[in-house]
Amino acid sequence: MSAENTSKIISKFGGTSMGDATCMLRSAEVALQQKSSVVVVSATSGTTNDLILLGQVAEKGKKEDVQVILEKIKQRHLKIASDLNFKDDELSPLQSHLQELEDMARGILLLKDCSLKAKDALMSFGELLSSRLFVKAMSLVLQKNEQTNRHVFWFHAGDILITDNDFSKAKPQVQDMKEKALSLKGAINRSQTGKGDVYITQGFIGKSLDGFTTTLGRGGSDYSAALFAEALEADVLEIWTDVAGIATTDPRITNKAKGISEISFKEASEMAVFGAKVLHPATLLPAMREDIPVFVGSSFDINLGGTWVKRTVDFYPPVRALALRKNQVLLTLTTPEMLYTHGFLYMVFKIFNDHKVSVDSITTSEVSVAMTLDDSTLLNKSLMDELSRLGDLQVEEGLSLVSLIGNDLHKTSGLAKKIFETIPDINVRVICHGASKHNFCFLVDQTKDKEVVQRLHQKFIEEV
Ligand code: ADP
Ligand code: ASP
Ligand code: MG
Repeated sequence: MSAENTSKIISKFGGTSMGDATCMLRSAEVALQQKSSVVVVSATSGTTNDLILLGQVAEKGKKEDVQVILEKIKQRHLKIASDLNFKDDELSPLQSHLQELEDMARGILLLKDCSLKAKDALMSFGELLSSRLFVKAMSLVLQKNEQTNRHVFWFHAGDILITDNDFSKAKPQVQDMKEKALSLKGAINRSQTGKGDVYITQGFIGKSLDGFTTTLGRGGSDYSAALFAEALEADVLEIWTDVAGIATTDPRITNKAKGISEISFKEASEMAVFGAKVLHPATLLPAMREDIPVFVGSSFDINLGGTWVKRTVDFYPPVRALALRKNQVLLTLTTPEMLYTHGFLYMVFKIFNDHKVSVDSITTSEVSVAMTLDDSTLLNKSLMDELSRLGDLQVEEGLSLVSLIGNDLHKTSGLAKKIFETIPDINVRVICHGASKHNFCFLVDQTKDKEVVQRLHQKFIEEV
């Protein structure tokens, strides 16, 4: 991938690309080669999970467990610092984050209370720590390449990434972000591509207008990078991960998954929303608004190529890829009151709206409505109670949503026949077809989901 004709590149490196000192140095080399102006980094792999666990054990008052997890996080980051030859005076930002983290964990331990607000503040340390380490990795790589006239700056993502205060799933405030980004944008614009300073910041985290730390939801660093790209009017957004781009399905499901060289924004968004973890579901929204091409590639081997996600592409196959979204539940609400009356669906969706829960797909009959959702919804007791008051509520758990993603699927004759002939022995629950020209999806039992994807992949991708 060449950045020759472009000028402003924002590059994001995920958790595995930040895994240890070697990964960080390799990622910094990629940033140098790609002429990145802004680098957005995730926490080192596993750290966000550790921080979530830390909050949970602290809230339960488990003092020893808190100590063990704090120590694990500390050692992981200090080991990387030592491998990157941090000098004593360079360690102080890292040390103060570690100290703040420890103080916060103690606070939660004492109060036995970890609100979503506290949890966001706790989780932010993953990205804060990794970004401090990455500053050093980037400086070492610039030195090695005799580019010491270029400086590496660190900034808190929340200086630009402004959100509302819906902790744990904060919504970015795009207009505020654009204003906050002006001076950085000016500085980048004044420098020549690949010759100017490099700015390092964190993915996943932001700040509310009143200055509290927020997060965008798990896997949100991709979304952060896209929001920075939008606010800074970047020419290209790069997402560097552990696979060489977007494949026809998750390579962990089948080793026959093939790399996709080009895909449209709409198809890639549909893949992300319907379970392809390679991109956070909201990533492409800012890129689409500003028409910024997105490249997805492997920081482990840049020569493997990757995927360009763009508004228009050369080729629009009917079936491009398959996605799998696990941990789904099917809620079926039945009431004779639906017959010949209006307003029932309004009442159902008002409840979801009030609880800020999104429904993935729905089907209705005269007297019932069936909806698929993430199984975490079941934990929301008041939502479930309110739904139950509307009629008889049936809950089926242990399901997965399988999607075929492509183009003009709503007009492709014989598609359903071909799909279900491939899996005649599988019980299919709800089918959704027609609402999107890019998606045909259905629910299957979780125990059969991989097999279903493998068989459909063979039929629709390998045999074509
Ligand atoms: P990062 O930490 O870099 O954000 P993620 O683990 O979030 O990385 O996303 C990369 C992973 O996404 C890959 O390792 C791969 O298993 C998974 N994945 C799921 N669907 C796809 C797909 N269609 N193409 C490529 N990777 C996919
Ligand atoms: N570190 C965060 C997470 O693990 C965000 C990210 O990696 O994208 O969810
Ligand atoms: Mg990710």
